[in-house]
Amino acid sequence: MIDLRSDTVTRPTPGMREAMANAEVGDDVYGEDPTVNALEREVAEAFGHEAALWTPTGSMANQIGLQLLVSPGQELLCDVQAHVARYEMGAAAAFGGITTRTWPELSVPDIEALVSPPGGYSVPTVALAVENTHNMRGGTVLPLAQLRAMRDLADRYELGLHCDGARIWHAHVADGVGFAEYGRLFDTLSVCLSKGLGAPAGSLLLSTADNIARARLIRKRLGGGMRQVGILAAAGRYALAHHVDRLAEDHAKAARLAEALAPYVPGEVRTNIVVLQVPNGPELAAAAEKQGVRFGAIGPTAARLVTHYDVTDDDITRTIEVLTALLSG
Ligand SMILES: *Cc1c(COP(=O)(O)O)cnc(C)c1O
Repeated sequence: MIDLRSDTVTRPTPGMREAMANAEVGDDVYGEDPTVNALEREVAEAFGHEAALWTPTGSMANQIGLQLLVSPGQELLCDVQAHVARYEMGAAAAFGGITTRTWPELSVPDIEALVSPPGGYSVPTVALAVENTHNMRGGTVLPLAQLRAMRDLADRYELGLHCDGARIWHAHVADGVGFAEYGRLFDTLSVCLSKGLGAPAGSLLLSTADNIARARLIRKRLGGGMRQVGILAAAGRYALAHHVDRLAEDHAKAARLAEALAPYVPGEVRTNIVVLQVPNGPELAAAAEKQGVRFGAIGPTAARLVTHYDVTDDDITRTIEVLTALLSG
């Protein structure tokens, strides 16, 4: 079975498993796991932030970040297709008491028009969230100029700016923008080690030392304080050392898919996600699965294919054959 449902389906490589087996560990709730501490320090430094906190999932990193920036009853603005708004089971409202309002397209003047400064009886806007790369918009990379304009908007209205950087690695590889260049734009930034990089679990939240001290308490409140978690942090360190530059291969495979299926690809494909606009997404996915190609429908007329290190060039050739036949049939 060729599995293009997500870049989370990768299994740890032999090298990664060896790193996990040999990891030095301690109790991370006491802050005593040397491998976690090293990972947190390395990632914070790479992005130019004071501190980082390991979390079991990207959703938890995002939600802790949002809770740092938005108090109960206050408002967050984000994309209508944002992971934080649509795919985290309402956590911002359920756990953070956060009101969310969404923008249809990232246009800074339109977003500015949505901002509702404190005062009066309208819910005060206190933070913005961006997603880079953007998952449901086809792995799109937000241009640095646009991110800078968002930072400027946040500064003018004294808003916090969060980045869901689950696939910031892919943006870095596609645009050649340095991690620190991205890092300095955001008050809080989440990064994920199990998307494309191939670790079995783990994300990090980056921010100031004060914020991360608060974040540690929120993580515990959410049940995310883990013990000898260096076994997982070791996989993350291994992934960062060995699996970032090779993302270019995943991007090339996605580009091959996009080129062969061009009539069904509405946007430009620059990273590892291909969104297809098709007459019937669920039907196409079911028919392809019968022929050994697995991917997901993300709407009645849309399907999403994600490349990763367990997908070979031959798998791409086969996927193109199957889809071309099904779509012309
Ligand atoms: C996968 C993903 C996350 C985090 O997901 P978890 O499954 O909670 O680790 C966050 N943001 C985006 C854009 C994602 O694709």
